[in-house]
Amino acid sequence: MKTNKCLQLFLILSFFLFSNFFLFSSVTSPKYVFFFIGDGMGIPHVNLAESYLAAINDKVGVEKLTFTRFPVFGLSTTYAENRYITCSAAAGTALSTGSKTSINTIGLASDHHDTLFSIAYRAKQKGKKIGIISSVGINHATPAAFYAHQVSRNHYYEIALQATKSDFDVFACGGFIQPKGVNNDFKSAYDIAKENGYQVLNTNESIQNYNRKNEKVMFVSPNTLENNSMPYAIDRKNNSYSLHNFLEKSISILDNENGFFIMLESGKIDWAAHNNDAATVVHEVIDFDKSIKIAYDFYLQHPEETLIIITADHETGGLGLGYDKNGYKSNFSNLQFQKKSFETINQEVFQKYKTTNNISYQDFLSIGEEYFNISKTELSPSELQELETVYTSFNSSRSSNANISIEEINVFIKTYLDIFNHRASVAWTTHFHTGTPVGVWAIGYKSNEFTGNYDNTDIPKKLAKIMQLMP
Ligand SMILES: [Zn+2]
Repeated sequence: MKTNKCLQLFLILSFFLFSNFFLFSSVTSPKYVFFFIGDGMGIPHVNLAESYLAAINDKVGVEKLTFTRFPVFGLSTTYAENRYITCSAAAGTALSTGSKTSINTIGLASDHHDTLFSIAYRAKQKGKKIGIISSVGINHATPAAFYAHQVSRNHYYEIALQATKSDFDVFACGGFIQPKGVNNDFKSAYDIAKENGYQVLNTNESIQNYNRKNEKVMFVSPNTLENNSMPYAIDRKNNSYSLHNFLEKSISILDNENGFFIMLESGKIDWAAHNNDAATVVHEVIDFDKSIKIAYDFYLQHPEETLIIITADHETGGLGLGYDKNGYKSNFSNLQFQKKSFETINQEVFQKYKTTNNISYQDFLSIGEEYFNISKTELSPSELQELETVYTSFNSSRSSNANISIEEINVFIKTYLDIFNHRASVAWTTHFHTGTPVGVWAIGYKSNEFTGNYDNTDIPKKLAKIMQLMP
């Protein structure tokens, strides 16, 4: 009897050991790959989000995000073939194909002859399903680099047509930029997408109810703005569509026995950084992290078969945590008092004053109070001087009968934004991109490959090797 029990136990143990051995040895490449790109998301942008989260809880230090807890970290250079400070087209091409190219080029070598094929295309050839998700237009440079080949990123219509011919399984985005071409007189790219087998869905209900697994689909955000992007997280109304909703939906459709490759771009970290809008950047990074959390939860269910990579195409704005006039003082929690993005504030103030032909100094000061919590009575002498200079120049240069222009409003809001950022000890060196290296965070199948210091072109090369993609 005792021997029988021992034998039974031995058999059960052997079965588990054998089946585990079989399970591990059968995985030779990751079934599921998530590739996240934070456009313009330098390391300071990530760190500002983390230190902001700590500061609003009265702590000095950082409150980690999901992806900054990942075990693997690397550092990547971002330069283009012909310019050290890159753009999203050249950097997107580097990240998608593993080859350097020239500024503004999408999916072609810098000679504009050799076609470069992305890892998404190569993963598709291998039988994986492909999802391309972005908070901006799907024919914008970063997502375009995964399926298009164009001498200029501005060939929006041609890029849109290449999306419709890509045969990729899911596109989820803010729609097509210039869907009927520059002059609005070509056949709609949405109609061509439908002819090529894509369902095009753009309402909450139709997207939520969609669950067909073997058809191609394009989800267009129901709350897309005029510029074909989804609203900034800081401006978003409750329950309006966001990137993590798109990712959840895409995972449920794309999951299949051959696995998937999903590229998700948070495109407006860059836009906010071009505006030097720190509070909006912070909310965009935190929102991006929510999408990464969805992928991480998926990873926890499939830890042996999933690989998650997060990086950026370049840094935007030359963001610094610290401001000269504040010495060693930091006050990142102050960023919580900005309730809307710089772009939305501009629009709102313009709508309010566009039919008037002047703004009084008191009204000018109340803009700061309303949007940036900058109290009239607590302005420092240098802040007061800055505001007076801007107001005097506005008043002396404008003709008395012309209505207020958006450009004039823009100068006002920008002055407040700078004062607001500096109060928080946040400073920017430029409204353009910089050449500062960016971070790479990873977890999952063979993620250790992403440790160290390398070039952006190495990222898809490493991915292709790990995913065993054909060249
Ligand atoms: Zn940019």
